[in-house]
Amino acid sequence: MDRAALKDLVLAAIEARAGEIVSLGEDIFRHPELGYREERTAEVMARWFSGLGLPFRTGLALTGVRAEVRGRQSLAQVAILGELDAVVSFEHPAADSRTGAAHACGHHAQLAALAGVAVGLAEAKAAEYLDGNVIFLAVPAEEFVEIEFRQRLRRQGLIQFLGGKQELIARGELDGIDLAMMVHAEGNSPQRKAWVGGSSNGFIGKSVRYSGVEAHAGGAPHQGVNALNAALLGLLGIHAQRETFQDGDHVRIHPIITRGGDLVNIIPAEVAIETYVRARTLEAIQDASQKADRALRAGAHAVGAEVTIEDLPGYLPLENNPQLGLIFRENMASLIGEANVLKGEHMAGSTDMGDLSHLMPALHPSAGGFSGRAHTRDFRVTDPEMAYVIPAKALAATVVDLLSEGARLAQEIKKGYPPALTREEYLALWTRLLVQRETG
Ligand SMILES: [Zn+2]
Ligand SMILES: [Zn+2]
Repeated sequence: MDRAALKDLVLAAIEARAGEIVSLGEDIFRHPELGYREERTAEVMARWFSGLGLPFRTGLALTGVRAEVRGRQSLAQVAILGELDAVVSFEHPAADSRTGAAHACGHHAQLAALAGVAVGLAEAKAAEYLDGNVIFLAVPAEEFVEIEFRQRLRRQGLIQFLGGKQELIARGELDGIDLAMMVHAEGNSPQRKAWVGGSSNGFIGKSVRYSGVEAHAGGAPHQGVNALNAALLGLLGIHAQRETFQDGDHVRIHPIITRGGDLVNIIPAEVAIETYVRARTLEAIQDASQKADRALRAGAHAVGAEVTIEDLPGYLPLENNPQLGLIFRENMASLIGEANVLKGEHMAGSTDMGDLSHLMPALHPSAGGFSGRAHTRDFRVTDPEMAYVIPAKALAATVVDLLSEGARLAQEIKKGYPPALTREEYLALWTRLLVQRETG
């Protein structure tokens, strides 16, 4: 069977199950879970793969699920990814009332698309004509949040990295994969449009702890050292750095106070801050990170408190692979029209697909079908076919292109890719980027 005929067959198989793909996406939307806690979501995905008769494994990096369609030859390995986790938005109408988790970043749609690619390839029996393998990865914890909780998991030795794809890299779960692709939701974009290409910021995470001395806030504040005042001065210090950042570096520093005092009538002795320091290049991240540290320390110094700054491995900047982008672009254009596939630009957000893009050719386009801004209470699917089904078709068609005819295109892209970091080099890079500093 030739490539075009196989593609038609796969797309028809997805179309035949479109209703179920949409239901899967909506079910996950109604049951959001936060990173490294996505047990139910993982179960839903495992059940889907099992229903298709695909071999699968669960519990990768705590909650990840991996299934596989093996081709008639194994000349290349293409991974399709979907992220299992939600963000926190207590005000979101579909939020979990206990945890505040809500699919306000559209990761539920990625999982529906992942399920759609699997169903298309499995039901069309594409394996008989493909010369490489397709790996389906439902991955944990893309959102770099709940830093304290994840630090606990780290201390317990359950994870090394706060990001799920990073953890999978560190564990060798992505060894042997040649190419990786996924489609992310584009907020505020109800139209049938997609964006391919572009780049994203990387970042370092920071866990900051101010320690002072508690005292009666009314009777004897002079006996205390106010850690909250130290923290506020530290934050103001960060704001005072902003005019020194270059526009082209897209620096973003956005701290939150996660512990700001325990009781109103006690001078706060322990205050905790989480922040990212984001920028477009590793050099700019390091420069901004040093300035942030300087400012945070100055806050402690001003009131005589102590501060501990722990740097955490955030995400590397994303580089979309241009050749992979061209193939995907063409497939997406045949579904929604040439004029609706636009060129992606630099995004100041971050993703751990960035880390993957340093190890292998990677693609992280975005697609519409959603209204409301990402990470807000208004985010929802307005066009289920565009959000769930069309990305599945575009990804599946791209897989057929990559792995047909001796997996020629997959191998060409791999050959043209700049020297990849090995797993060891990747881990060494993070060790180099991070320095634990303890200062008073
Ligand atoms: Zn997000
Ligand atoms: Zn996201």
